[in-house]
Amino acid sequence: MTNASPDCIFCKIVNNEVPAVKIYENEHVLAFLDIQPVNFGHTLVIPKDHFENVYVIPAEEWCRINLAVQQVALAVKNGADADGVNLIMNNESGAGQVVPHAHIHVIPRYNEDGHKNWDHKTYTDAEQMSEISKKIKDFI
Ligand code: AMP
Ligand code: ZN
Repeated sequence: MTNASPDCIFCKIVNNEVPAVKIYENEHVLAFLDIQPVNFGHTLVIPKDHFENVYVIPAEEWCRINLAVQQVALAVKNGADADGVNLIMNNESGAGQVVPHAHIHVIPRYNEDGHKNWDHKTYTDAEQMSEISKKIKDFI
C-alpha cells in the first residue's frame, strides 16, 4: 500500500486508477512513458509514495529512485536507439514542475533532433562567483 495523495495523477497511475504504459517497477519505484514525449520513449521515474519534490524525499528513497533511473536511462538509450539521454527533474513551479509528485524525466536524445538545452549566463567577475557560492554553502 502506498502513501497516495488524493487527486494526484501520478498516485492514480501507481494505483492503476489511471492507465499508463509501464516500463519498470519495483516495490518503491515506477517508470512509465510520458504521455507528451520530447522524443518517443521519454520516460518518467517516480517514487510510488507521494513526495512532492526532491527536498522532501527521504535519502533512502532518493537512492532507490536513482538506482532505477540509472537502469532506465540505459534501457531508454538502447531501446530508443538514442545518441544520448537527458535526466531532468523539475522542482517547484519556478523550475517548470507541473505535476506535484516528484519525477525524473529520462529523455532519449539524437544528434539532429533539433531540441535545444539551456542558454548560459556569464559571471561578471570572480567576486560575483564567490558571493553566490558563499550563500549556497551557508545552506549545505
Ligand atoms: P513536469 O513539468 O516536470 O511536472 O512534467 C510533467 C510531465 O508529466 C509532462 O511531461 C507530462 O507530459 C507528463 N504527464 C502528465 N500527465 C501524464 C499522464 N497521465 N501519463 C503520462 N505522463 C503524464
Ligand atoms: Zn502523487
